[in-house]
Amino acid sequence: MTLFKEAKKVIAGGVNSPARSFGGVGGDPLFFKSGKGAWIKTEDNQEMIDYVGSWGPLILGHAFPAVIDAIKVAIKDGLSFGAPTKIETKLASKVCEFMPSIERVRMVSTGTEATMSAIRLARGYTKKDIIIKFEGCYHGHSDSLLIKAGSGALTHGVPSSPGIPASLAKHTITLPFNDPESVVNAFKVMKNKIACVIVEPVAGNMNMIKPISGFLETIKDQCQLSGAVLIFDEVMTGFRVAKGGAQSIYGVKPDITTLGKIIGGGLPAAAFGGRKDIMSHLAPEGPVYQAGTLSGNPIAMIAGLVTLESMEVDNFHKSLDLKCETLMKGMSEIAKTFDQPLQVTHLGGMFGFTFNKYGPIKNYNDIIKSDINLFKRFFHGMLSENIYLAPSAFEAGFISSAHTDKEIKLTLEATEKVFTLLKS
Ligand SMILES: *Cc1c(COP(=O)(O)O)cnc(C)c1O
Repeated sequence: MTLFKEAKKVIAGGVNSPARSFGGVGGDPLFFKSGKGAWIKTEDNQEMIDYVGSWGPLILGHAFPAVIDAIKVAIKDGLSFGAPTKIETKLASKVCEFMPSIERVRMVSTGTEATMSAIRLARGYTKKDIIIKFEGCYHGHSDSLLIKAGSGALTHGVPSSPGIPASLAKHTITLPFNDPESVVNAFKVMKNKIACVIVEPVAGNMNMIKPISGFLETIKDQCQLSGAVLIFDEVMTGFRVAKGGAQSIYGVKPDITTLGKIIGGGLPAAAFGGRKDIMSHLAPEGPVYQAGTLSGNPIAMIAGLVTLESMEVDNFHKSLDLKCETLMKGMSEIAKTFDQPLQVTHLGGMFGFTFNKYGPIKNYNDIIKSDINLFKRFFHGMLSENIYLAPSAFEAGFISSAHTDKEIKLTLEATEKVFTLLKS
């Protein structure tokens, strides 16, 4: 029996998170047993170059020695105390240092918890209910955020999953990404009711889409004018596109930032933080309740701290950016010679590519016009060349500091081979 069949007998759908199921590309998901640097090994001993990096956390590559060593030392003293430890303060200080907009942090265990809690805090702080989010952005699976746009531009949202009360969807408005006018309009219509705007400053959950000039700035202005809280969801982009996240690149300062993925270095940790006057509304200091048995788990904290500290070398992100550029430019040039409409983008250690013959991709409506069937064939072609890309046309790709020119060269050679096969 295959591993996946066995898993399906006892695990719902055979996976513990749907994106892993290969639903977006067809076929059975691979089972992995180990990773080292840029490479991962399947249970069948196939060794592959990994561009998923556990969906973002592994910016140093798999089993980075300093992180593994620090964990080994820490676990000898116990796994969890449910009481304060020094390491939590150390990681929190590092986060505040890397991201100056963050004055106070609260550690949680997943990105979903971070965004869910940030929204409760924004609502508690403003005493308002409406939240604004953007089509194609993903902020985890909490009820208020699994809401898609209603039929009209400013109509109430509708749940994007069964199990979410329609009455809750009434409080979530979904606008198109990269459309400053619709933001201005939404605030004009309901400015006194908006608790917060939550946005991925670089969208990484609809492939990868950068903000157009003026988009983030307009959101910031509108929030400031009406007293709404601006939440940047940097669960993916935080420490990934730059040490200080997307906010340091685009120069727009949010009130609250949500973090995840890299902050745990591969263990379950996430956080939200921001202005101290807002954060002071959280329990126990303030009335907005939020808690977690394993929040700030010392082993996850040490993994996160050593990961962040290991990024403190000259040109860390510059070097990731150059590697992504070589990879994306290379793939784009190869695609051109085969007349394939490949559009590429990248920033820091993050990249996106999509088969799309329409103009510049600015939002969800643009990205869904991509040729998904072509992507599926390309994905499986690359897989058989030992290149592991995200198994979905709508996910960003990640590179780690362990990826070298050698891996990029192998990837480009594989790309050429796969395009040749696709043509024939
Ligand atoms: C991954 C992600 C989340 C959810 O984080 P989980 O740890 O999977 O709950 C939230 N927001 C963004 C932008 C993400 O990329």
